Amino acid sequence: MDTDTPPASLTSLLRESQPGFRWNGVEHAPYKEDGAAPFKAISRQTLFKEAALGCELRYFEMDAGGYSTLERHEHMHAVMILRGHGKCLLGDIVRDVRPHDLITIPAWTWHQFRATAGEPMGFLCMVNHDRDRPQLPTDHERAEMACNPVVAAFLTA
Ligand code: MN
Repeated sequence: MDTDTPPASLTSLLRESQPGFRWNGVEHAPYKEDGAAPFKAISRQTLFKEAALGCELRYFEMDAGGYSTLERHEHMHAVMILRGHGKCLLGDIVRDVRPHDLITIPAWTWHQFRATAGEPMGFLCMVNHDRDRPQLPTDHERAEMACNPVVAAFLTA
């Protein structure tokens, strides 16, 4: 048997990494297709999407100054920062985050990531395969969040 050329099935099972947080066989896509939600300078790569696993693992990366959508939803996120430094909003908490930090985002918790350190920031995000759609804050909800000066500073960073 020729061991130099893996069969096609193995090619899809082993996908080599490339420089710059890219992977063979993984599409580098805009963050959201519909464009309805506010976000800035962030890309999405879906690393694993297997119905049999019940979950997906995605890699999101923001350019310096970029941010994810401020949103909440019933499904949870399990996040690991993979590159860069920045800030994370979790409910009414704002924290600095750095590589390999782990962040659990519970159901119905407002959350957002911002690359505030003048460098790209990327994170892995595990999520249910079947999940509800994110909700965006109403103007009233956003104003309520901004009553907390720490959160207000984060939202306008
Ligand atoms: Mn989310």
